[in-house]
Amino acid sequence: MFTERYHMSLPQLLESALSLKPDEEVIYDGERRVNYKELDQEANDLASGLHQLGIRKGDRVAVSLPNWHEFIVITFALAKLGAILIPFNTRFRKEEVSYILKNSGAKAVFFPKEFDQIDHYQQFHEIKENVPQLEYLISVRFESEDILSYENLLRNGKLTKAPAVEIEAAEDVFAILYTSGTTGRPKGAMLTHKNLIHTAVAGAKCMQCSPKDVFLLPTPVFHVMGLMFVLRAVASAGRMVLMEVFKPERALSLIEQEKVTIKPGVPTMFILELNHPNFKKYDLSSLRTGEMGGAPAPVEIIRRIREQMGCNVLIGYGMTETSPTLTLTSFDDDDQLRAETVGKALPGVELKVVDRYKNELPIGEVGELVCKSFGLMKGYYNMPEKTHEAIDAEGWYYTGDLVTIDEQGYLRIVGRKKELIIRGGYNIYPREVEEHFYTHPKVNDVAIIGMPDTVLGEISCACIQLKTGVEGTEEELLVFIKEKVADYKVPDKLIIVNDFPMTPSGKIKKIELQKRLKEQIQLR
Ligand code: AMP
Repeated sequence: MFTERYHMSLPQLLESALSLKPDEEVIYDGERRVNYKELDQEANDLASGLHQLGIRKGDRVAVSLPNWHEFIVITFALAKLGAILIPFNTRFRKEEVSYILKNSGAKAVFFPKEFDQIDHYQQFHEIKENVPQLEYLISVRFESEDILSYENLLRNGKLTKAPAVEIEAAEDVFAILYTSGTTGRPKGAMLTHKNLIHTAVAGAKCMQCSPKDVFLLPTPVFHVMGLMFVLRAVASAGRMVLMEVFKPERALSLIEQEKVTIKPGVPTMFILELNHPNFKKYDLSSLRTGEMGGAPAPVEIIRRIREQMGCNVLIGYGMTETSPTLTLTSFDDDDQLRAETVGKALPGVELKVVDRYKNELPIGEVGELVCKSFGLMKGYYNMPEKTHEAIDAEGWYYTGDLVTIDEQGYLRIVGRKKELIIRGGYNIYPREVEEHFYTHPKVNDVAIIGMPDTVLGEISCACIQLKTGVEGTEEELLVFIKEKVADYKVPDKLIIVNDFPMTPSGKIKKIELQKRLKEQIQLR
């Protein structure tokens, strides 16, 4: 059923599932059950409501919501208008949000009243004062007299019909996802309709998905993995079970209750479920497969997933810029292969390994992975020079991951050239957090490094040197950073140090610092 679907637009993908099973459920979010016909109708009404506000093809509309059914409706409504989705984390603080809204030039933003212990209503009012192009604040699941609401737009939208928009799947950008790379400040990866649909459809084919499949979505839809799984569910004409926030026991009970067949997630989610004291209470026999990705997967966990969850989980690898999947293991690979490697290239993906001078290396040698893919972004939004740094003139994208590829095409990740800490599936770019610390008047120098953790994979540790003669405490530095960045980026450990190991050129030797820290702090 997947042939010839790689070049579709999102609205076409929805139409095709709709024609197959209009009255069958597509979304359950714990609050509401929505069938394909209702999803399509609600997306049409919302598109008309947004059109009345003046949202047109190419306009950017931001969404900072948990995994609620409204998020999926907004996704398809924007796609129908040819408008561009700017999704971002509900845990972001004021400065992080303002940057994305300004950089993307979003005209409107959808958000909840309170979530993740942040008063979004208050936060967005403050932000709007300094973001002139942001015309509309749109509330979801709450009403307030001073702003528009999702429900208002649906009601108004029923009165008119937005004109149909021509979409060119390979050209038209559907979403801009912000990701940091190595330069500190986030960049917006522009993903076209074709980019995302390609990886959704190619992955669905590898996983042998069918309309009978029920996808559990514990990963946030504002992240590329969550978004791609929404499309994979629709590409399969399947059903999705959305989790507002990931809680291991809730995930287990939803698998039993909703007869989930496919379970994507980052390794930390699987670890927390397997280690949950009530794990054995739940019937997980409906599980057929899953995809674990986003961070290295320990072999022991893969074995326990197969033996204790009865689920033949696949390992996926990729990144925001590649929509995301580049490689996937297959059902035929044994556990060892699945743990040691991240599989082979998906159809439509070309991989090679290069040295620091960009020369291709022979099979088996360690170097940086570069790729071409139908899923590869169009570029970074409004940053042509950053796009040229990342994608060369021949169209190869430099991933920043250090890998080997063997004779059979299996990819092994051996390290990272880029500085990145993956904490429980969430990415922390040290430079971004370090730059915030540098704005503190007492801080002279700072280094943030990743340390191993058995549950989260990695945690972040900040080593801070204060200015000469200045007194300061670890607590006051933590209070400061909590105001600046999302909670998962706040260092798990913060230590004031007297000096750093330095290179002759004056850079902090992070590897040596990591060794020093291992002796000083207790790890799980
Ligand atoms: P993001 O853009 O947030 O999707 O993060 C992408 C980065 O996560 C990649 O460049 C890798 O460094 C890392 N990553 C993704 N999948 C895996 C995996 N299966 N194993 C190890 N690292 C991974």
